Amino acid sequence: MMIEEEREHFRAKLTAMQGEIRAISGSAAQDLKPLVLDHTSVGRVSRIDAIQLQQMSQEATRRRQQHLVKIDGALRRIESGRFGLCFLCRIEIDLRRLSADLTITRCRDCVEAL
Ligand SMILES: [Zn+2]
Repeated sequence: MMIEEEREHFRAKLTAMQGEIRAISGSAAQDLKPLVLDHTSVGRVSRIDAIQLQQMSQEATRRRQQHLVKIDGALRRIESGRFGLCFLCRIEIDLRRLSADLTITRCRDCVEAL
């Protein structure tokens, strides 16, 4: 069983990750504003660049949102005592794998079985 100290450690790490992502999302929010292009001074290539940059930034935002959802789930599992247990077979996930990614929900066997 995972001891309380470990749970607290993971909870602190997850909360820190959450804060970091939210800080980045805050500063990136302006990238999501509608793209205003100055057609008189910006050439066609620059417009394409600007559109691509915005798409990349939107993609990064989408990934951050997904990560936040995963972190939320992990924090909820900590609260409910299911953190570190495989979602499918309920055995304990290897602590080294879990430490590498606190948001994983399946043990190695179940991942490989998929
Ligand atoms: Zn499993």
